[in-house]
Amino acid sequence: YSRYKDDFEEIGKLGKGGFGRVMKCKHKLDDVEYAIKIIKFAENRRDEVVREVLKHAGLHHENIVRYHQARIEECEPKSDDDNKADSVSSNEDSVSFGSDIHGDSLYIQMECCDGTLFEHLFKELGDKDRLWIAKKIVEGLCYIHEKKTIHRDLNTHNIYILKDARERVTKIKIGDFGLAVSWKSDTDTKVQVKSSEGIDYYNAPEVVGTGLIDAKADIFSLGVILFEVLHPSSTNRERIENLIDLKGMKFPDDWKSDQYDHYKSFISKLLSKNPNDRPSAQEVLLQIQQIQDLSPSSELDEPVEG
Ligand code: ATP
Ligand code: MG
Ligand code: MG
Repeated sequence: YSRYKDDFEEIGKLGKGGFGRVMKCKHKLDDVEYAIKIIKFAENRRDEVVREVLKHAGLHHENIVRYHQARIEECEPKSDDDNKADSVSSNEDSVSFGSDIHGDSLYIQMECCDGTLFEHLFKELGDKDRLWIAKKIVEGLCYIHEKKTIHRDLNTHNIYILKDARERVTKIKIGDFGLAVSWKSDTDTKVQVKSSEGIDYYNAPEVVGTGLIDAKADIFSLGVILFEVLHPSSTNRERIENLIDLKGMKFPDDWKSDQYDHYKSFISKLLSKNPNDRPSAQEVLLQIQQIQDLSPSSELDEPVEG
């Protein structure tokens, strides 16, 4: 018996990782589509896995993926019959988890988005749209930091695009709170984490080093993301080359002219080696506002086309 299977109809797969999978599901009663992240875990990893929902549940903001609820269901012990009769999903479970280990599954029900920022960035977008996307990401991050939380896994795969057909607008949403940690007090904002989790291109030097971090570790990742948002790449290969150059503080050739000086100095600040030299999320927001004012047409909050 599974309440998940009782309540939801699976529509398709949205994503897959070492953790398990994310399914697009329709709730049988309210007829709304949700993304449900299913994480199968061994009992000794329970606290680590549950941390994701503890962090995510406390965040309510326009630019954060909306969390609905979570539930843990016991996995039925596998019998040979199950293996033969059951669908594709049980096969996948045994690949990612190992059928001999007993474990439970955590189901996280969230709002369903229409794709990642990563996919979106290869589309043709005007400067105005790019600055608008940048601003929305920073608004979400300001809120996360106000809540004394460090996301620790900011990258273009963990930021989502949602096209709200009813309101006819596009929304930008930060998601995946699997690595998020919180600091305790205003006087002690540092947190010790295992070093080098997260994606290498986006990791601040202190993340790869001591693992003693504060909210400024997110600002470094934000710098890389804002570079990607403001500098279009036409292919993923080109994007990777640009990211490698950026690690060495080298900006692409087409940013050579003076016109891009304010972009370069803005992003360089966010990528400072010393966390204390990086601006806060609030300061970044003000700076984006200023760049927007410099741009020829600066109507704010214009929805992205498409
Ligand atoms: P990995 O172990 O691969 O890093 P993860 O723990 O980071 O996975 P998520 O980032 O939460 O897991 O989700 C994995 C993928 O599932 C995402 O990259 C995205 O493609 C899809 N996905 C996750 N949440 C949603 C959502 N709310 N709406 C739409 N798609 C989603
Ligand atoms: Mg992710
Ligand atoms: Mg994750």
